[in-house]
Amino acid sequence: LTTISPLIAGNWKMNGLTHSLDEMAELARLLTTGAAPRAIVVVCPPATLLAAVAAQGASSGILAGGQDCHPQSSGAHTGDISASMLADAGAQFVIVGHSERRQLHGETNEIVRSKAEAAIGAGLKPIICIGETEAERESGQAEHVVSGQLAAALPDAAAQHEVVVAYEPVWAIGTDRTPSLEDIAAMHTSIRTCLTERFGERGETIRILYGGSVKPHNAREILNVDNVNGALVGGASLLAKDFYTIISAV
Ligand code: PEP
Repeated sequence: LTTISPLIAGNWKMNGLTHSLDEMAELARLLTTGAAPRAIVVVCPPATLLAAVAAQGASSGILAGGQDCHPQSSGAHTGDISASMLADAGAQFVIVGHSERRQLHGETNEIVRSKAEAAIGAGLKPIICIGETEAERESGQAEHVVSGQLAAALPDAAAQHEVVVAYEPVWAIGTDRTPSLEDIAAMHTSIRTCLTERFGERGETIRILYGGSVKPHNAREILNVDNVNGALVGGASLLAKDFYTIISAV
């Protein structure tokens, strides 16, 4: 069996001002004074804090990531940010296709795929988010929807370049609700099967993160589920103490 080093990514969303760098400093302190983390740690702050987070993380092994990128590398796209700009600011990862982008900015799988391709082109590792809505789960469509999103949003370049898949059931994000461990296991196994069918052995090495209300109290049991190779953490990544507890649960 292939073993994949786990990855824990924090998504600050539209939260974080200069003083939030104090939380970064505290996270760095916890990570460097406690037992060495068994996971790769990524923090995805708002773009205004990206360079500072990347600089601060350098000494403690925390990597920085963006929360979105434009498919183009530059041009007349007021308000957007390109993957090469994120890389230039020190990012190594970028989240693409988060459900908030899909729902509030109308991002389709095709757009998400082009963003993931742009990320790879800029030397970033895309964290590609997929996940069903509550209605889709209730109608028994969850695995069908998620495998469709995966097929359409994951670029072929994943065969040669590192990408990360994040399974985030939309109804579990920010709600303090999570699927049962059995449902998480079933979905992650289904995603793994899609990856190996498409990419062969390479598909065994692609990380599949779980995201959606991962908290200090439930991280350990979720991270122990088969084919869960880490977590994408929203709310609980804003406090260093909570995020550190989740990292330590690996
Ligand atoms: C997220 O936004 O990616 C997320 C998982 O949020 P939360 O942990 O707050 O549910």
